[in-house]
Amino acid sequence: MLRRFIFPNKKFLIYRSGLKYTTLAQQKINSQETFTPGKEYHGFLCKRVEYIPDFNMYAMIFEHEKTGLQYVHIERNDSNNLFSINFRTTPFDSTGLPHILEHSVLCGSKRFPVRDPFFKMLNRSLATFMNAMTGPDYTLYPFSSTNEKDYRNLQQIYMDAVFNPNLKYLDFLQEGWRLENKNLDDKNSEFIFKGVVYNEMKGAFAENSQVFGQHLFNKLLPEHTYQFVSGGDPKDIPSLKHQDLVDFHKKYYHPSNSRIISYGNFELKKNLTYVNEYLKDYDKIDSTYSKVPNQTRWSEPKKAKITCRYDNMGAPIQKQNQIAVGYLMNDICDIYETFVLHVLTELMIKGPNSYFYKSLIEPNISGGYNSMTGYDNTIKDTMLTIGLQDVDKNDFDKVLQIFDATIDEAIEKGFERKHLNSVLHNLELQMRHQTTKFGLGLLFNLTPLLNHNGDVIEAMKLSKQINMLKENIKHNPKYLQEKVQQYFKHNRHKLILSMEPDEEFEAKFAEIERKNLAEKVKNLTEIDRQKVFDDGKLLASVQKAKEDVNILPCLKIDDIKTPEKSELVFSEIEKMPLQLCKTDTNGIVYFSGILDASCLNDNQRKLLPLFAEIVAQFGTKKHNFRDFDNLVASKTAGLGFGVHLAESIENNQLYELGLQFGSYALKENSKDMFEIFTDLLTTVEFNDIQRFEMLVENYLSNLSVGIAQSGHLYAIQNASGLVTESAQLRESMIGIEHLNYMKKLLQTKSSEEILQEIKTISSKLLQKRPVRCALNLSENDEENSKKHTEIFLNALKLDKTDIHWNKSSLLSSKSRHNIMHIPVNYCAKTINTVPYTHDDFPILRVLARILSAKYLLPVIREQNGAYGAGSKLGFDGLFSFFSYRDPNSIKTLSTFDNSFNWIMANVNKIIDEQTLFEAKLGVLQQLDAPVSAKDKGMETFKFRVTHEIFSKHRTRVLNASIDNIKYVSEKYLSNDNKNVVGKSVIGPANEELVKENWIINQE
Ligand SMILES: [Zn+2]
Repeated sequence: MLRRFIFPNKKFLIYRSGLKYTTLAQQKINSQETFTPGKEYHGFLCKRVEYIPDFNMYAMIFEHEKTGLQYVHIERNDSNNLFSINFRTTPFDSTGLPHILEHSVLCGSKRFPVRDPFFKMLNRSLATFMNAMTGPDYTLYPFSSTNEKDYRNLQQIYMDAVFNPNLKYLDFLQEGWRLENKNLDDKNSEFIFKGVVYNEMKGAFAENSQVFGQHLFNKLLPEHTYQFVSGGDPKDIPSLKHQDLVDFHKKYYHPSNSRIISYGNFELKKNLTYVNEYLKDYDKIDSTYSKVPNQTRWSEPKKAKITCRYDNMGAPIQKQNQIAVGYLMNDICDIYETFVLHVLTELMIKGPNSYFYKSLIEPNISGGYNSMTGYDNTIKDTMLTIGLQDVDKNDFDKVLQIFDATIDEAIEKGFERKHLNSVLHNLELQMRHQTTKFGLGLLFNLTPLLNHNGDVIEAMKLSKQINMLKENIKHNPKYLQEKVQQYFKHNRHKLILSMEPDEEFEAKFAEIERKNLAEKVKNLTEIDRQKVFDDGKLLASVQKAKEDVNILPCLKIDDIKTPEKSELVFSEIEKMPLQLCKTDTNGIVYFSGILDASCLNDNQRKLLPLFAEIVAQFGTKKHNFRDFDNLVASKTAGLGFGVHLAESIENNQLYELGLQFGSYALKENSKDMFEIFTDLLTTVEFNDIQRFEMLVENYLSNLSVGIAQSGHLYAIQNASGLVTESAQLRESMIGIEHLNYMKKLLQTKSSEEILQEIKTISSKLLQKRPVRCALNLSENDEENSKKHTEIFLNALKLDKTDIHWNKSSLLSSKSRHNIMHIPVNYCAKTINTVPYTHDDFPILRVLARILSAKYLLPVIREQNGAYGAGSKLGFDGLFSFFSYRDPNSIKTLSTFDNSFNWIMANVNKIIDEQTLFEAKLGVLQQLDAPVSAKDKGMETFKFRVTHEIFSKHRTRVLNASIDNIKYVSEKYLSNDNKNVVGKSVIGPANEELVKENWIINQE
């Protein structure tokens, strides 16, 4: 969803998700303008300039002389330019103050006094990213764009939003919380709590992994600001006042308490000049008030217990417990130590060669690591957590004994050289791998460090840290063991946290909410009641009022450039289709393959995702699974397997089913990569039944994690599954139906029987099946890689025909309610339309944008208090409406149903030429988004969208008229026509849906 709330969750920052290559330049870039430390530029004192060879970029640090604002610029030959304004925000209660402020500043500012300019700009820009986030001690406002005019437009909006927001009382009521009459026209109707953040946080804490993560964090750091919930605890949010927001803004959103990060190849001078000019009326203040001190270290470990909601979609209740050990680690500013701990975490936790995987995961006493497991370096004192999900309470003591014994074992035995090498190899490979999100990754990695005045330039020197670690190990072979001793064995700042489900959890929360509400209502005077009634009316009328948005900048049609096309070469190797994309890959060879899976029967198809999950985890004839894992990690970026299910772009009643696989490697290792695939796909050994049982348990446990987090996607998928056979198959492979299927399967079949079925799938898939391959590589790697591909394909002895098309029929309209014990709903409605190449498809795509921006968001989010809503058109031609963290269901479904009437009533009114153009821009944000070397040509490879088909599609989007919109609305959205419709609600039990004869799924 648009605005995300960052929980201090599992994040292997700096070294995993971030610091990846984006650009193509191999040689050292030249800085456009030379900046010299000690000199002043446009009101900024240049403090440092350094070239970072690992990433081929310049890092520069400036200080704004007038206000003391810290400015970090990374110059790199990358057109996806980024700008972010960050503040250090340290709340001292759990009312969600910084989070509600983050929402409210985006509701209109001095120069742009329109409601929600942020949301409106989403449709007036070609931004590749626009968002705002609240972390535990920082709030950031980032955007990125490849279009310079757009970038300058957004810069103005963002600067004005954060430094001069209107922060109106009504914005606070809308975004934060409010009391409101249930019936807006009846002063005597009962009162309810409403508000975007209020509902957002109720939804956030519906996810048990979030509850666990939040408590662990607050309890491990019980001093100063980290003891509070920066996003807001629903029971505390209603004590926040509008004035608190205004005061907090005044104090924390001062330039002296701000840090700006910019990245890319646009002229830095323009940024500096603009920021300097904008901040000319500010002076410097002492911003040490927002400093976060180190947590006082404990002398004894602690234990705590919490409860959570019983997840009826999860494991049996007696197994639905979690336990974790959390440690407080180093100061975030100690950069080398952070690096060492990252490496140590990988060695201790990840994969079958790590100590904890062997001792805690392999005995199969749980559903695997919980989602908090990992090293978190996003806060002043970093923390490391190792936890298990789906553990029987009676096994808690056993888990803790194993835990301690594992640490002793690691200290005694140390780490294998080849294991360490594979971890370091992966870091180096990540450094070379190019993504289009390099700038964004950098921002998220550097923000927490910069927030505590850490040395961000040092943090970017990855090879230096790798070399330091190697040196230290050379001089002291027990170096890492001593670190384990220091950070685990002798670390007294340790928390053991356990969590158990409570079937009354929801009821208790509802009771707290009811009491909270009663308390508020009790204290209302007659004047207050009148005010609640008047405010409710006023807010509703302001939300519905039409306003002049032309005050906001907007791109023009001439500002849009046609994206570059990827040059693809199609050939055959061993009579198998091969797609080749020659591009600058920075010395990496990317390989993908799709193996036809239409030979599988219905039940085998439902098991294909499990097969994909475990196929690379068993080892082969030559290598047991531990050696195989070491080999894979030391030569490749890991092997990826997944399900490929794609409807034909010409006829969406045909679909392809396949097993997709791929990897990438440094070019010198590409031969090994193909040999590894050959070895695995010809001699995989599914023999170890215990290992199989453990992998299946973990697989099942992970299926139910995240449903409450991404409920809208599950609801869309679930509704789609009622419309066509191919979507039904997809639902039974990745949706809620898949979870239900797997649970039943494990209850009715023995592990031996299921493993036998996996073996059958393996022999069916890996013998004489058609396959197609794609290689993305640099010019001079072509011959070698083609040769390796040929040897690989030869060894597989595949069938020499193209992939089969499967038939998919339309189903009949149905509605399905999946009952889940959560306090919010996720609603979806899906309608069958046309395939990608049909003339109506691009128009429907534009229509989806119009509906989202002008109808669904204003009604379902702003007026009715859901966190999000929208509509989208899938590649498969299914048009879906959805809502996210929604207090309503029936009301939302009728809003969906009313879309056609709304369009007819608003043609040439709200739906004018400008609205149409904005919707097209919205579609172009997706169509023209930058593509990484790895992903170039993948739409052609996977979905057969050639450049010609794509260009035709894009042109039709650009030429869409209001008449076209009217035409497709009538044809597909009108409730009178015969299109197949599927509806789905995920949420609490609901009498009204029972009355309307919905299929009820209650696990
Ligand atoms: Zn939020």
